[in-house]
Amino acid sequence: MTEPSTAEPTGPSGPSGPSGAQAPLGVFDKELLDRCISCGFCLPACPTYALTGEETSSPRGRITLMRALESGELAPDDPTSAEESSFCLGCRACETVCPAGVEYGQLLEQWRDHQWRGPARPWIARALMALVSRPGLLRLQGLVRRHARGGAAPAARPAGSGAAPRPAGSAAGTVSLMLGCVERGLYPEVSRAARQLCPEAGVPARQGCCGALHAHNGDSATGAELAHELGERLPGTILTTAGGCAAHLAHHLGRDRVRELSEYLDEQGHRPVGEVTVNGRRARAALQDSCHLRNGLGVTRPPRELIAAVADYVELPGAGTCCGAAGTYAMLRPEDSAKVLAPKLDEVEEADVDYVVTVNPGCLRQVRQGLRRRGSRAEAIHLAEFLALATRLP
Ligand code: SF4
Ligand code: SF4
Repeated sequence: MTEPSTAEPTGPSGPSGPSGAQAPLGVFDKELLDRCISCGFCLPACPTYALTGEETSSPRGRITLMRALESGELAPDDPTSAEESSFCLGCRACETVCPAGVEYGQLLEQWRDHQWRGPARPWIARALMALVSRPGLLRLQGLVRRHARGGAAPAARPAGSGAAPRPAGSAAGTVSLMLGCVERGLYPEVSRAARQLCPEAGVPARQGCCGALHAHNGDSATGAELAHELGERLPGTILTTAGGCAAHLAHHLGRDRVRELSEYLDEQGHRPVGEVTVNGRRARAALQDSCHLRNGLGVTRPPRELIAAVADYVELPGAGTCCGAAGTYAMLRPEDSAKVLAPKLDEVEEADVDYVVTVNPGCLRQVRQGLRRRGSRAEAIHLAEFLALATRLP
């Protein structure tokens, strides 16, 4: 384990309101806040602390701010609290190294519920939340959705792929492919590829948003409500190609109800067939982990093994660190997002890979855009498409 920081946590400088101490806020789950023992093990894992070196931009510093807000020591509109709740990527890397079991992701949702309530919520987040919450607006994406659902006839499971035992935890033995708000609009080809890989999965027609967008942008109540609504619409095991959606749904519906694509294929004993080639040689491919899949659900091995089955797998030193997409973060804080992404793009070039495989549509957009802006020869691709690409080769 990394050595903890010896620096003392910097507390709030005192009440920032003119009237002195405020009443307790009642925003945070006190038991969750009390778990933090201020050991500092989380500091080296935090990408924003790496950028600034400032305690307030670390998980421990942010929990200190939350505690001061909750106790009333800090004014509810304290600017440092507002800035740090926004600057945090919500990547949850801090959770994986915390010896005290601090559920930082839950604390961040509660923090943003307070900071981004009503008009304080960034307009981009408000617009996106409105888009995915209104069935009428979502129906505008109907053509795209139909393309994703039916554009390709379900392919026969390729010879050599595993049998298809039903996943544990699925009482009815039913598997429902979730199309996802971002994916159905921007990357319908990912859903098509997943459909080809998992022809046993049904694709229910009426699908809403899973609510992760709301939960991460200051409306955790709606985030929970949407997760439960989707859970009722999609029977059996919910299969998703988005690590972020998987973690959010698993939190609200239970781990047994949800499978991300790579873990599902792994459980099914799926053995990818074919090979991805570039200029007649086996392709070199790296993985960009999805933060919430890795840090929230602990899924790391399956996507690596699937890639390695059809290409030469290359582990990037920072594969597990955030790419800076972080939901709406890349749109709300493009400069910080680019700073987080930059070292990853350096690693991709140094590793001289042909592909960077992602397991979340937000990461796909972020890495693809970054590679194109740099003029890199490497291409970003979703795991579903990558595996489908391998099977199409002779
Ligand atoms: S969040 Fe966990 S790792 Fe970080 S200071 Fe608190 S107890 Fe330590
Ligand atoms: S969620 Fe990520 S960016 Fe935020 S405090 Fe934790 S490690 Fe740092």
